[in-house]
Amino acid sequence: MKEQKTSKKPILFYCIVAIILLMLLNALVFPKVLQPRVTEVDYGTFLRFIDEGKIKTVEIQDEEQRIAFLAVDESGEEKVYITTAMNDPNLVDRLYQKDSKIAFSRVLPQENSPLLNFLYTWILPSVAFYLLGLWLMRSMQKRVPGGNNAMTFGKSNAKIYVEAKTGKSFSDVAGQDEAKEALSEIVDFLHHPDRYTQIGASLPKGALLVGPPGTGKTLLAQAVAGEAKVPFFSISGSEFVEMFVGMGAAKVRDLFQQANEKAPCIVFIDELDTIGKKRDTGGIGGNDEREQTLNQLLTEMDGFDGKRGVVILAATNRPDSLDPALLRPGRFDRRIPVELPDLAGREAILKVHANKVRLSPGVDFNAIARATSGASGAELANMINEAALPAVRNGRKAVSQEELEESVEVVLAGYQRKNAVVSEREKKIVSYHEIGHALVAAKQEGTAPVHKITIVPRTSGALGYTMQVEAGERLLLSREEAFQRLATLAGGRAAEELIFGSVTTGASNDIEQATKLARAMITRYGMSETFDMTALETVSNQYLGGDTALACSAQTAAKVDEEVIALIKDAHHRAYEILSSNQALLHQLAAYLLEREIITGEEFQKILEEN
Ligand code: ADP
Ligand code: MG
Ligand code: ZN
Repeated sequence: MKEQKTSKKPILFYCIVAIILLMLLNALVFPKVLQPRVTEVDYGTFLRFIDEGKIKTVEIQDEEQRIAFLAVDESGEEKVYITTAMNDPNLVDRLYQKDSKIAFSRVLPQENSPLLNFLYTWILPSVAFYLLGLWLMRSMQKRVPGGNNAMTFGKSNAKIYVEAKTGKSFSDVAGQDEAKEALSEIVDFLHHPDRYTQIGASLPKGALLVGPPGTGKTLLAQAVAGEAKVPFFSISGSEFVEMFVGMGAAKVRDLFQQANEKAPCIVFIDELDTIGKKRDTGGIGGNDEREQTLNQLLTEMDGFDGKRGVVILAATNRPDSLDPALLRPGRFDRRIPVELPDLAGREAILKVHANKVRLSPGVDFNAIARATSGASGAELANMINEAALPAVRNGRKAVSQEELEESVEVVLAGYQRKNAVVSEREKKIVSYHEIGHALVAAKQEGTAPVHKITIVPRTSGALGYTMQVEAGERLLLSREEAFQRLATLAGGRAAEELIFGSVTTGASNDIEQATKLARAMITRYGMSETFDMTALETVSNQYLGGDTALACSAQTAAKVDEEVIALIKDAHHRAYEILSSNQALLHQLAAYLLEREIITGEEFQKILEEN
């Protein structure tokens, strides 16, 4: 049996485990099961039992110097007792005198013959283990499609999804219309290849879905599987990375062999970057195993004939780290961007997921979508769920607008910390800080309207925050608007300075955001006089956080720092000016917030207009 040879190691391992288990069973369980429970008593008690006539059967075990007997105890139950035999020649007479019905026979069960013992303690459990193992192997085999051996190392564990299985279709994917269009072309090709071949068009062999995490790349691929009605092989890049050297490459080979047999079909490789990273040029630390896997993938993609109808889809959120060889024509030559959803997209995604929960009438999805700019599809899906949970907790039958708005805040800022202890003085500082932001925002033309101000602490550590929501979608930001945003960020700190004459750590997040924005204005958006339209930083990781790398000399970097500092100082100054010329309003609003803890945008506007 060949397959057993290849898997010697695990079988040995299982044997050892089985033997250890058997030993434990023998030591702990079997003795109790096989032998009756025996109570040891002293000779006096034995004699008392005789006198009271409670003994049924007696066995005198000469060789062991002990007596076993069956007697009825106080509760009327028959029990086996054991006692040490004394040198008592009258014992037998005594027993007869008392009650001649006592039987002399075996009380303890017969010791099993060594052979039987062996059978019970070793052979039977072994057979049981063997059968269990066999059953496990069988059920494993069933899950490996096309594989007729269990333990098929090197076989890809690609799951074949046939349409019914994923149960997803394009209608489950909201927004992402361009991506859906590009993918439906592929689906169409698989259904009517002759239409394309007649004209002589051949479809791209591979399409790469790129975009930030949670935008629905995996979901899109599953939808394609649902729509295409052809076999769908799905494997994640990390599944190629094996414990054993060379197995990754073998898996790739096997995957494509299976795909070729099942053509027309779709192969989907999720998280392609795990195997598709750029190969290092020499040096130590190169990952041979990964390179082999990648090489095998490149070879296979060249090797098969696109006309047979094998389409390779892949998804990644790190396209910049992929090996260029993967991206050249003939391989993943079509890129399908799956970006963060825009306003309409967010609204559509909220609606798709809201279909699964019951909503109270009149829920305004547009408002929620406007408040969640920058959120991914996964986050939006999460928000709907986070809104449904408190609805259940509050014993409601449907999800209301309030719960949806609260869940937006939960996803963006964490849960409310109901039992957080914030002293009155700190609350006062936080109130002025937040009103500082809101007032600076309101007194400038180009900023988003204030939607909500709160000083309820959140699990993210925020002691309060001011939520601004744009009226529509914003795609461009002018220099002046960016500067106003900086001033708004500085507003919290400025209010603290103006009212309390000192500053707190509460502005740390504002400082971080302001610095990021100011840096980007100078190094990437060309918004400084000194550097004009020079790119001084490059974004290296577009979809994952957007880390930047300096692309200028050290002297220039020092000058950039100066510019950033000057810009932020300017903005800070503007915020301070705005607040000091509106001090009465600042006091009034802060007192109101301190009392209410939450102010809505309308309330805020009303107070502003009254003054
Ligand atoms: P990724 O791009 O990281 O592969 P997924 O496809 O795994 O993201 O998306 C995660 C979840 O987010 C999906 O299961 C779905 O519930 C939700 N989601 C993301 N984008 C969309 C979308 N465009 N329409 C509907 N749901 C979406
Ligand atoms: Mg994914
Ligand atoms: Zn702040």
